[in-house]
Amino acid sequence: AVAVVASLNVDHIVLAPRIPEPGETLMGFSTSRELGGKGGNQAVAAARLGAEVAVIGCVGQDEDGEEYREALLAEGVDVAHLRTSALPTGRAAITVDAEGVNSIVVVAGANADIPAAAAETAIGELPGLRVVVGQLEAAADATERAFAAARARGVLTVLNTAPVGDVAAKLLPLSDVVVANEVEFRQLTGQDPVDGLRRGSAELFAAGCRWVIVTLGAEGCAVLDASSSVHVPAVAVRAVDTTAAGDSFVGALAARLAEIPGEPTTADVVAACGFAATVAAVVVTRHGAHPSLPTLAEVLDA
Ligand code: ADP
Repeated sequence: AVAVVASLNVDHIVLAPRIPEPGETLMGFSTSRELGGKGGNQAVAAARLGAEVAVIGCVGQDEDGEEYREALLAEGVDVAHLRTSALPTGRAAITVDAEGVNSIVVVAGANADIPAAAAETAIGELPGLRVVVGQLEAAADATERAFAAARARGVLTVLNTAPVGDVAAKLLPLSDVVVANEVEFRQLTGQDPVDGLRRGSAELFAAGCRWVIVTLGAEGCAVLDASSSVHVPAVAVRAVDTTAAGDSFVGALAARLAEIPGEPTTADVVAACGFAATVAAVVVTRHGAHPSLPTLAEVLDA
C-alpha cells in the first residue's frame, strides 16, 4: 500500500494565449475549476493504476473540502486519515498557455494544518504499507514525522521536492528517493540538471538519500544512485497540457515501488521510472489534473 502526506487543492484554471507579464492584463480563452494539489494528484494517480492508497491530509470545513473527500472516496482512496481544519481548503490559480506550459500560485490553507502527531500515528497504523510519498505543499512537520515513522517501520520514503522551500533540507535525510524537476534540482543543489547532475546529486546522497530522480520534461528523466546514472527517455507524444505530469510520474513511481517485495534495487527504481514515464506521457496529452490521470488499462492501451 501507498500513503501520501498530501496537499489537496481546488484548481482555478485559465487557458490563455501566453503567460502574462508582470503588470499585464491579458484576454484568455476559458476558465475551469478542478480538483488538484500535488498530493491529491499523486494519490489519485496511484489509485487509478491499481495501488491501495491512503491520504494523510487536511481540508477546510467547506464545500471544496467535502467535494474533495467525496472524490477521493469515489477513487477508492482511504480517507480515514483526512482531517478538517478551520482554515479553508487549499487553492491554486493556474494559467496554461497555448503550448500547454503552466504557471501556478498555490495558497496552502488547510494543507498547512495536517496534525504532525496524527500523521505519525497513521503511518504506524496503515496495514501493508510499503511506500510513503510527500511533497512540499503539505505541512512540513507532518511530512517529517510521517517520514521518520516510515523509516522506523522499514517503509520506503519518496520526497517530491515541489515546490522547493527551506524545509527540503530537513526532509532530505529522511528521504530514500528524491524526485525533483529541473527547476527544483537547480534550487536544491545550485547545480545545472545536465552538466552538474552528478555533482548536485552527490550533495543529496551526502544528506542521506539513496536515489535521485531528476525529471526533464519531454527529455525524460535521469535516475542516479551513489555510483551510477541512467537516462530514462520520455515517450514521444503531442503535449497539450503538462499539468500533473510530474504528479502522475510520482504517483506511478510509488504505485510500482509498492509492488516490489523487500528492498528495491536501482534496477527496480529505473523500471518504475519507465512505467512512470509511460503514465505521464498519457497525462500530457489531456487537459487538467484529475481528469487527465489514466487507469492501468488506459496506460497499457497507449
Ligand atoms: P513537472 O511537471 O514536475 O515539471 P516534468 O515536466 O519534468 O515535471 O515532467 C515529468 C515527467 O512527465 C517527465 O519525466 C516525462 O516522463 C513526462 N513528460 C513531461 N512532459 C512531457 C512531454 N512533453 N512529452 C512526453 N512526456 C512528458
